[in-house]
Amino acid sequence: MAAQENDDHKYVYDFSEGNKDLKDLLGGKGANLAEMTNLGLPVPPGFTITTEACQAYLATGREPDGLAEQIEAHLRALESEMGKRLGDPRDPLLVSVRSGAKFSMPGMMETVLNVGLNDQSVVGLAAQAGQNDRFAWDSYRRLIQMFGKTVCEVPGEEFEHALDEVKSAKGTHNDLDLDADDLRGLVDAYKKIFAKHTGREFPQQPREQLDLAIRAVFESWNAERAVLYRRQERIPADLGTAVNVVTMVFGNLGPDSGTGVAFTRDPGSGAQGIYGDYLANAQGEDVVAGIRNTVPLQELERLDKSSYDELLSIMARLEEHYRDLCDIEFTIERGKLWMLQTRVGKRTAAAAFVIAGQLVDEGLIDEDEALHRVNGAQLAQLMFPRFQLDHEFEAVATGIGASPGAASGKVVFTSARAVELAAEGESVILVRRETNPDDLNGMIAAKGILTSRGGKTSHAAVVARGMGKTCVSGADAIDVNVPAKRFTVAGRTVNEGDVVSIDGTTGKVYLGEVPVMPSEVVQYFEGSLDGEHVDNPLVRAVHRVMTHADGKRRLAVRTNADTGADAARARRFGAEGIGLCRTEHMFLGERRELVERLILARAEGERDEALAALLPLQRADFEEIFREMDGLPVTVRLIDPPLHEFLPPLEQLAVNVAVAQERGEDVAKEEALLAAVRRMHEENPMLGLRGVRLGLVIPGLFAMQVRAIAEAAVAVVRGGGKACPEIMVPLVGAVQELETVRAEAEKIITEVVGDSGVEVLIGTMIEVPRAALTAGQIAEAAEFFSFGTNDLTQMGWGFSRDDVEGAFFWRYLELGIFGISPFESIDRDGVGRLVRIAAEEGRAARPGLKLGVCGEHGGDPDSVHFFHSVGLDYVSCSPFRVPVARLEAGRAAVETDGSDSR
Ligand code: ADP
Ligand code: MG
Ligand code: MG
Repeated sequence: MAAQENDDHKYVYDFSEGNKDLKDLLGGKGANLAEMTNLGLPVPPGFTITTEACQAYLATGREPDGLAEQIEAHLRALESEMGKRLGDPRDPLLVSVRSGAKFSMPGMMETVLNVGLNDQSVVGLAAQAGQNDRFAWDSYRRLIQMFGKTVCEVPGEEFEHALDEVKSAKGTHNDLDLDADDLRGLVDAYKKIFAKHTGREFPQQPREQLDLAIRAVFESWNAERAVLYRRQERIPADLGTAVNVVTMVFGNLGPDSGTGVAFTRDPGSGAQGIYGDYLANAQGEDVVAGIRNTVPLQELERLDKSSYDELLSIMARLEEHYRDLCDIEFTIERGKLWMLQTRVGKRTAAAAFVIAGQLVDEGLIDEDEALHRVNGAQLAQLMFPRFQLDHEFEAVATGIGASPGAASGKVVFTSARAVELAAEGESVILVRRETNPDDLNGMIAAKGILTSRGGKTSHAAVVARGMGKTCVSGADAIDVNVPAKRFTVAGRTVNEGDVVSIDGTTGKVYLGEVPVMPSEVVQYFEGSLDGEHVDNPLVRAVHRVMTHADGKRRLAVRTNADTGADAARARRFGAEGIGLCRTEHMFLGERRELVERLILARAEGERDEALAALLPLQRADFEEIFREMDGLPVTVRLIDPPLHEFLPPLEQLAVNVAVAQERGEDVAKEEALLAAVRRMHEENPMLGLRGVRLGLVIPGLFAMQVRAIAEAAVAVVRGGGKACPEIMVPLVGAVQELETVRAEAEKIITEVVGDSGVEVLIGTMIEVPRAALTAGQIAEAAEFFSFGTNDLTQMGWGFSRDDVEGAFFWRYLELGIFGISPFESIDRDGVGRLVRIAAEEGRAARPGLKLGVCGEHGGDPDSVHFFHSVGLDYVSCSPFRVPVARLEAGRAAVETDGSDSR
């Protein structure tokens, strides 16, 4: 890195030198401390060591040249500004050392407070604080504790244990009851713990404390947990962290001091108002650590009116400045307010929509920006039913919300029991320590899955998300005992058959059945709530954002639907056509028998008979759908799966035949069936006789479907309706395949359509990699392409979805080989590249070629942005995902077309 060779490269920035846009260099915390400093807010003076210094340190294993001198210079400046010297025995300047990367990351080093205290300066600190010995020794013991734990990896429990001992010797639970002598004794105990674990005395040199703490922050960038987290979240490994050195201010100086956290609006609902917690006579993390009970921030008005008023006005100022909800950390030292941190705050999905709407009303942002501030994942969350928790239900455990939804049911501990009870019509929750591939059937049978171990990428989490099943993972308060068929939690025992409720969004676990309430957002989409007039801030906000998204988006949104009912629902959700109507579902039920006859037909006559019987049934299916869609385009895919899927499984059939033969029964028919099943058995059905291959091998099958589609369209049109069919040929890999099907289809269409005015397009799926790579040729015979990204992903990666998700995806996710399953979100680099090539070469060969996507990715937020950028005409997704796709298509349009008001 060039920076290293350059001695005068700037590695240290005073807070007055930075600003909020320098997050790459100063980290989030440092950039925002600088921003607040420059706004004139009361921030304790300090400086930030850049991420570049960290990168250089990590690359070479030593501080880059010039860094030590720059720290020295900034420290001197800070000392002269404060009129104190770091660790001065008579009047010490103390500082905190705080990590702060561009993205906040669990696993990174925490903060060390009170750096600069030692056996001498603790006395000086007490004297300066008006002979406040208690405060000084409290600060010193905190330093040894935090320094020991985070810089030298001394186990934190040992310090906590020692603190508990002192408290119980005093007969108290409250740390405020400890006096100066108790704390002095605790410092001795802490020093012993420190020496025992590190083999050295607690460092007394203030500057050494500072340097070691800074170095520990640098090194924590590569701590195991941090590395794992970055891989999973796709955060680049080379960003590094900044380090903030901040003059200490003291919330533990007495009852007129304290520390707190606050939000400028309710991060839960988005409601305006003051939300926060305050703790008097406390320092640092005490507020969130739950050491003592905090009071609501409103109480501060009574305790210290002038600090409270100042805080409120600062919060208003920050909101206006950041034009968003902010969260803050502050400390009051003897009636003087200090700001220690701010950032744009996290919020729930509902709050995100409500706040975006409010900010537009307040004139702080425009509608494009409001659209940018919400996302499809949040909208999807709001479309799940929720638990109604107004009374009496209290969570007994909280795990990770691994797959959203709300599920209640009887507890079971084995896959087999789950299957059994589900077959009796019971709702069950499968509870395991962790799941493995053997649990798959139980997971399918269960309404929800609860595990006591594992995170968002555990087997349970990955598989549940793939199945759209509610899952809470890693609820470690639960102690699962599978052989005894029970678990214990919070002192209670839950046996097999007892009912529990799990919330896959919040990760909460409840005993008993919690009532579920439908989503108001779904009610709005279904038309039972009027988005403009309803007295519900969330629904109004969703309505407003969706209206704007629809006005901006370039991508049309269609749905995947096989029945009139699905089509109708999707239309209410805003679908503008059907992008994938699968026909294989139309061959099930009582029609199965006709398909069997078709497959088993020996003579042409038998086959034609079966086809002739299927024709009117198919025609009726299509008529219903065309009517429902009333002139919107309907893409019908000709039959796709391998034929043996319509026949009984081989093993079962073989056993039946053997048993019947044994009994001497007449089994001629079964034997023929068995022979056919044997003949058609494939080792790799996904790569076998299916799709267009089937159409080219079984005479008359595609022709029957084409005829049914054309006749249905004509019937609808002659009845005064509108129909706009598009016939889609699956699994094409070579233009010759499509040309053959097309020639036959065109003949039939011309004959059926006559002068009815019906127009039928013929196109193909692009789902075999070869099709993507020869798209220029294929476009000559296709009026549209629809990307079947499920198959394209399977064949592009060479793995079958049904097998891999349970077998090894969890491991791949854990290792960071992918950040998200490529079936969930399109793999832009590989599969996405095939899409891009096909789109470009297809359009080059046939300008105006219609391009869409009908894989599951059509409803995935990130994938929608990708399809927008490739320039497709539409995405098609399941009905429930249609609103998500509309929203994301709108976001993609305002983001890339650049009308962001910033
Ligand atoms: P985190 O990233 O975990 O929030 P911080 O660096 O914000 O860690 O530090 C945690 C807490 O420590 C802060 O909220 C604040 O209460 C306290 N703290 C940090 N620096 C100082 C300081 N200079 N003076 C007083 N308290 C501080
Ligand atoms: Mg903080
Ligand atoms: Mg396919």
